[in-house]
Amino acid sequence: MPANDQIEILWNHVSAHLRSSVSADSYTRWFASLKLLSAGDDAVRFRVPDSIHQLWIEMNYLPVLQSAFGAVTGLRHQFVFEVESGLATTENGKVNGAWQPVAEAPAPVEAAVRVFEDEAEKVPGEGLSPALTFENFVVGASNQFAHAAALAVAQKPGRSYNPLFFYGGSGLGKTHLMHAIGTSVRENKPRAKVIYITSEEFTNQFIHALQTNSIARFRKRFRLADVLLIDDVHFLAGKERSQEEFFHTFNALLDGHKQIVLCSDRPPGEIKDLENRLVTRFEWGQTAELTQPDEETRLAILRKRAESLEVEVPAYLMEFIASRISTSIRRLQGALVRVASWISLHGRMTPEAAEELLRDLLAHEAKNVMTIDRIQKGVAANFDIRLADMTGRKRPVAIARPRQIAMYLARELTGLSYQELGTAFGGRDHGTVMHACRTIERLVKEDAALRFRISSIETQLRRAP
Ligand code: ADP
Ligand code: MG
Repeated sequence: MPANDQIEILWNHVSAHLRSSVSADSYTRWFASLKLLSAGDDAVRFRVPDSIHQLWIEMNYLPVLQSAFGAVTGLRHQFVFEVESGLATTENGKVNGAWQPVAEAPAPVEAAVRVFEDEAEKVPGEGLSPALTFENFVVGASNQFAHAAALAVAQKPGRSYNPLFFYGGSGLGKTHLMHAIGTSVRENKPRAKVIYITSEEFTNQFIHALQTNSIARFRKRFRLADVLLIDDVHFLAGKERSQEEFFHTFNALLDGHKQIVLCSDRPPGEIKDLENRLVTRFEWGQTAELTQPDEETRLAILRKRAESLEVEVPAYLMEFIASRISTSIRRLQGALVRVASWISLHGRMTPEAAEELLRDLLAHEAKNVMTIDRIQKGVAANFDIRLADMTGRKRPVAIARPRQIAMYLARELTGLSYQELGTAFGGRDHGTVMHACRTIERLVKEDAALRFRISSIETQLRRAP
């Protein structure tokens, strides 16, 4: 019998086994277009129409293929895939003509890779926390825009804001919104591949993949995502190889119109030691800032959180907490939970008792409430100018420069938005404050004396009661 006929017979038998172990639809989609080229004692070679087939089979069906062949030949084979010529793994790194070529990419960029929805039963929403949903997220002025952008992205991933970049201080809801997007996408499309990961974990896994020679698998995993949520990207600062890797992942996903959502404690341009090309890409889509919630929003958040507690927390205690803890929603909720457990043990609680119970949180808060007023006073005193000059219009550099320094410090220390800072500095606009911050940032790089002076003002401010 000619070799070709043997191959065909072998394939017919193996196919029969395959058909009985995967759905008809999966069979048609993934195996019908496979061509068995040769089957030696160890290696079995296939031709696949494109790299998507190869990736998908390697990721999901190797055990199935193994056992189908095993049943017919009684052997354990290795599988080798050849991508049909002309449709070889794509190396296309161009989006809107504006991307840099990714010829320097360390591996082929699987730009065209798509997760077929009805095939994705094995890919759950990795790392998603079911409690962090849109329903549980209270919207107020401090997060309204970020929330709206998150909703838009969740409804049309890859098609509205891409990438979407959240920034703002710790405990203000960035991670919550990222999870909410992921969970919501999967509610609409249960089989979409959503990955949530911190950039720290991304870096760890990347290093692990390098050490264990499994970089190809690492890349595939991320590049097959429909939605990639990367938390705290400032952690990538200074980590060149991880940035490089992330850059290529980023390009591959954007190229395939997959959604990317990122967040950080500051806007992309202010993350130190982040490669320019990443900064540019992070700024490409939409950035959305989360700022400190006002008292009304804080109270609403507490009310919402209280619904899920077993004990009833009286309104006056919620008002007390909302009035005293403003810098972090995490601490705000922590205070509520602490008060609630006290009540469940001891019954009624007075605000005095609450003050005692929350002493450490409140102290932390006092240290953290770096008011603009304090910063303005501290800087004015240091430069021996009048406090009124902080909000005034005087232009001489001896006054304008300290004012810029105060804006810079206020930005660094309070986490307020440029808009809010502008208002506090005599009704200036957002662009003026941003310009001031950039100017000082540049100057401290060049001028060691100024750098020292600013850092000693900062130390003093942190120490002051
Ligand atoms: P970040 O990532 O900005 O540091 P998180 O998203 O982790 O902050 O939020 C801290 C805590 O506060 C979480 O428990 C989160 O659920 C809660 N939280 C933050 N913002 C809101 C909000 N607007 N409504 C309800 N809970 C919130
Ligand atoms: Mg977070």
